[in-house]
Amino acid sequence: MTRYDLIVIGAGPAGLSAAAEAASHGLRVAVFDENARPGGQLFKQIHKFFGSKEHKAKIRGYDIGAELLGEAESLGVKVFLNAPVVGLYAGKEVAVNLGDEGMARFKGDTVVVATGASENMVTFDGWTLPGVMGAGAAQTMMNINRVRPGDRVLMLGSGNVGLVVGFQLLQAGCELVAVVDAAPRVGGYGVHASKLARCGVPFYLSHTIIRAEGGDRVTGVVVGRTDSRWNIVPGTEKRFDADTICIAVGLSPSTRLAQMAGCEMYDPAQGGGKLPVCDELTGETSIPGIYCSGDVSGIEEASSAMIEGRMSGAAVAHRLGYMDGREFERRLEGLERSLASLREGMFAPKNRGKTFEKTDEGFDIAAGLLGNGYLSDTEALRYPGVKSLPGIHPVIECTQNIPCNPCQDACPKGCIAVGANIVSLPVVNESAKCIGCGQCVASCSGQAVFLVNEDAGGGWATITAPYEFIPLPGKGESGRALDRAGNTICESEVVDVRVSPAFDHTCLLTFRVPKSECGRARFWKRGER
Ligand SMILES: Cc1cc2nc3c(=O)[nH]c(=O)nc-3n(C[C@H](O)[C@H](O)[C@H](O)COP(=O)(O)OP(=O)(O)OC[C@H]3O[C@@H](n4cnc5c(N)ncnc54)[C@H](O)[C@@H]3O)c2cc1C
Repeated sequence: MTRYDLIVIGAGPAGLSAAAEAASHGLRVAVFDENARPGGQLFKQIHKFFGSKEHKAKIRGYDIGAELLGEAESLGVKVFLNAPVVGLYAGKEVAVNLGDEGMARFKGDTVVVATGASENMVTFDGWTLPGVMGAGAAQTMMNINRVRPGDRVLMLGSGNVGLVVGFQLLQAGCELVAVVDAAPRVGGYGVHASKLARCGVPFYLSHTIIRAEGGDRVTGVVVGRTDSRWNIVPGTEKRFDADTICIAVGLSPSTRLAQMAGCEMYDPAQGGGKLPVCDELTGETSIPGIYCSGDVSGIEEASSAMIEGRMSGAAVAHRLGYMDGREFERRLEGLERSLASLREGMFAPKNRGKTFEKTDEGFDIAAGLLGNGYLSDTEALRYPGVKSLPGIHPVIECTQNIPCNPCQDACPKGCIAVGANIVSLPVVNESAKCIGCGQCVASCSGQAVFLVNEDAGGGWATITAPYEFIPLPGKGESGRALDRAGNTICESEVVDVRVSPAFDHTCLLTFRVPKSECGRARFWKRGER
């Protein structure tokens, strides 16, 4: 039986990070993944990530995946693909299905379980019809297999997965007929909701699906409003023509292998299935030498999964004597600091469901944003970035305490400050001189930064907005300027289209509107009213 210092199950961000960290200290490491491609969720994620430079913010998920894989391979990590692990035993042996080569067993001195999570489902009449699928499945179809899941899609769930996949459906050319959520508030980041809202996608909060219609596949969906006990309020039914229903109602950690090995489990207070009891920093389970890292130990994000993986990899190196105690402590301390800054945001597990104090920067606006699904014009006027300034200047519509600061790093003139606390809201420094380079617009992972010139001459204002749809419009093309809710404001001409390798596939689209509309216009759409 082949032996490794470390066996990692799962080649997602957590698994690859654990493998690279351990291999960098000289360990012999093997990674097994059931998929044909390594990277876990990362290769499906075509959007830019939040965070700071050290968390790989403003880099797209697939680029982070390629970087991680390159690092692991250059350190000699052996990655087995199409290799589902079907058994994990307390003696740290794994049973792997190697396809044509049959079943094989491998022995690890240590094991990191980094099997991620799987999508939750809900049932309703017609839920088994073809056309009903998980949002993650739709994302795999689009971003891995280049197949559009349908033409008219309804998204159930307004958490980050529903919002992010919803936007990617629009980018793939689908019509998103609605985002429906039983909760009274949008569950995910407000900036993700705003991206959809300004494209004209309607949000039905406090609503749920009653039934999917169709004979041999989905042809329609009926939703209804829910009361405080989540029962349908009679007479509130609404029908949509749709051929696809995406379900984004949460993820559950894939803990089967950890359970099979006999790791102690517990029921977390907030639901989400059973979780392995783990050391808070290293992820070591109740079985010494078996670790759990990433979503399998509790759903978070790829950024935190990568740090957790590094912590487990370092712990393994220390355990097997490849790293002395002081070096290990120093490494762990640095990683812990980085993880702590990610966990300060209002969506971090410790803060979920917490009512932020009114004094918390941004909470007033965030409350309105979440309540309505998008920032309304009245709230925008109260927003510090939205006020009259001379010349071209950034307007930042980032209204929640998200751990993220690329806009600050991007500006060569110091026009934007987030400060030392990464969850503070960005503030526009009015005395700094904006040169209109657009780096801030392109670097914002939430597409929440705009450049506004309130007086561009001749009674016009210009708005420079991030644009990630193809085909790109041409300079001089006429279309419509839309407000934050996707309502048409007026006809609008494109006056500039900027693409640059530095913008990493985000086009900067400058369109003009009458001066009086510069506080409202936030999106440009092709075609007539
Ligand atoms: C739509 C969407 C958008 C997201 N956006 C962001 C974002 O902007 N920023 C961010 O930080 N995070 C984001 N996330 C979250 C992030 O993708 C996950 O938190 C992260 O991928 C978790 O990493 P992981 O390594 O634990 O698991 P995964 O990435 O899920 O990887 C687990 C791997 O284990 C493999 N595996 C499972 N079981 C077995 C087995 N028995 N044998 C072999 N292999 C197995 C799987 O095939 C998979 O490759 C998003 C998630 C989704 C779904």
